[in-house]
Amino acid sequence: MRSLRPAHLKPIHVVGGGLSGSEAAWQIARRGVPVVLHEMRPDRSTAVHKSGKFAELVCSNSFRSDDAEGSAIGLLHAEMRRLDSLVMRAADTHKLPAGGALAVDREGFAAAITAAIEGAPLIDIRREEILEPPADWDSVIIATGPLTSPALADTIRALTGETALAFFDAIAPIVHRDSIDFDITWFQSRYDKAGPAGSGADYINCPLTRAQYEDFVDALLAGEKIAFHDFEATPYFDGCLPIEVMAERGRETLRHGPMKPFGLTDPHRPAAKPYAVVQLRQDNKLGTLFNMVGFQTKLKHGEQVSIFRTIPGLAKAEFARLGGLHRNTFIDSPKLLDDTLRLKAMPRFRFAGQITGCEGYVESAAIGLLAGRFAAAEQLDERPLLPPPSTAHGALIGHITGGHIETIESGPRSFQPMNINFGLFPPLGGGTTRGAKKQALCARALADLDAWISAAVAHAAE
Ligand SMILES: Cc1cc2nc3c(=O)[nH]c(=O)nc-3n(C[C@H](O)[C@H](O)[C@H](O)COP(=O)(O)OP(=O)(O)OC[C@H]3O[C@@H](n4cnc5c(N)ncnc54)[C@H](O)[C@@H]3O)c2cc1C
Repeated sequence: MRSLRPAHLKPIHVVGGGLSGSEAAWQIARRGVPVVLHEMRPDRSTAVHKSGKFAELVCSNSFRSDDAEGSAIGLLHAEMRRLDSLVMRAADTHKLPAGGALAVDREGFAAAITAAIEGAPLIDIRREEILEPPADWDSVIIATGPLTSPALADTIRALTGETALAFFDAIAPIVHRDSIDFDITWFQSRYDKAGPAGSGADYINCPLTRAQYEDFVDALLAGEKIAFHDFEATPYFDGCLPIEVMAERGRETLRHGPMKPFGLTDPHRPAAKPYAVVQLRQDNKLGTLFNMVGFQTKLKHGEQVSIFRTIPGLAKAEFARLGGLHRNTFIDSPKLLDDTLRLKAMPRFRFAGQITGCEGYVESAAIGLLAGRFAAAEQLDERPLLPPPSTAHGALIGHITGGHIETIESGPRSFQPMNINFGLFPPLGGGTTRGAKKQALCARALADLDAWISAAVAHAAE
């Protein structure tokens, strides 16, 4: 039985109040353990955050597919809901129409997380930049994300004895809806798919003929890009390639990626199939802003405006935000962390979120959820229980803390951030179809998760 009451427990220090730090702090407090949450915003911000709110979404407002029977990210959503996730609760409360995806009103979402954190009696909020966690903090979760402040990044480099890995990601532009020409564009989700908050007509579609597509690709290739001296040697994360880099890889690459024309019919010209389509997804609750799906770019701002206005329907587009570049910082987790996310060399430190080498809002929050639970269990003198590898949480943490090296490729510095995907799950035997396999993986995961939750409850009560 637990002998300690919260008043006698030393607090866990969570550094960073983003997606992962907020979720970690929430999970710790829900276990009756005090937390101090250190967040440097708004006094000191990053290159992309705009507010002092917790869990601010810095780019897309999408949590991706919500299909818990056929997609790995939808499964992760479902697992997090069962694990009392604050991030999923706020996302569900503030969801917007987005076809099969779970998209959120970013303002409402961050406000809900902030209110929940501020209202949690066991969470003490300190608005300060942490340069170096003091020696008397005996349990620390570092959740400072891809834009970890430079001073703390130096400390982490010293702690880990590594030069942190870094690479570049690009963000997509946002357009004012009332500047889009609806005599040319139309609302439709691919294959009319209605998602968690959708109607089947949630995306704005801009159709391109073959000639328009070819001109567009030429303009991207010729367009002036932002130059970074240390850019050349830095690899991109493949799930977030800038459109001009995709165009460089082949003239048809975009048409098979973000500009694919499938599952859409132009009501203005139903007989003419578009050769390519640019899609825009609702970005705020009011429905006044739409982001260009998959249109991350490092084109210069002036070039973006002139090139994107050649897209049919966007000739008079007004941009609420243009695309840009950011650096991503992450540690070599398989080498540095143990299986409960502690730094092997100094176990009082845990890492959570994107800095561990997961990728994405939801994955970052999920790793925050686990780090919070592990840290709380330790503080309560319990043994942290690892999620089964067959669950999305288990698959994700397995990738971060070693599965990658064991099962994918060995060798130094091969660890790269990754979204959750079925390739990280232990395979099922038998030769069924791909769709049936995904469903079976999801069913197995949720059953195993439920068993794990029951075991964790029983373990805590011992
Ligand atoms: C420009 C950009 C675009 C992105 N686009 C997407 C996208 O479209 N979709 C997607 O799923 N993911 C995207 N990501 C990845 C996204 O950042 C992560 O998925 C997610 O926000 C990471 O969560 P996190 O909690 O690890 O970090 P964050 O959410 O960034 O939170 C880290 C927090 O730590 C704080 N902090 C940093 N240093 C210190 C310090 N020394 N002391 C105190 N506080 C500190 C920061 O202010 C911040 O609040 C993008 C990232 C960037 C940078």
